[in-house]
Amino acid sequence: MRKVAIDTDACIGCGNCEGLCPKVFKVDEQAGKSSVILPSGGTEDCIDQAIDACPVGAIRWEG
Ligand code: SF4
Repeated sequence: MRKVAIDTDACIGCGNCEGLCPKVFKVDEQAGKSSVILPSGGTEDCIDQAIDACPVGAIRWEG
């Protein structure tokens, strides 16, 4: 399975990714940044939707 990664420098903490795949992404409210909490927590389709929904293009597939 491919691995998803977030460019935390680019992330603006909008929450779109968490809204679409809440088991994969989690926004740290204090830091205002999202991170991958469980790479296998969602389907690739769900993660592709999050990639499309990220306003700053901070989510990408690795490898
Ligand atoms: S959708 Fe993009 S900018 Fe928004 S919280 Fe997720 S990674 Fe950050």
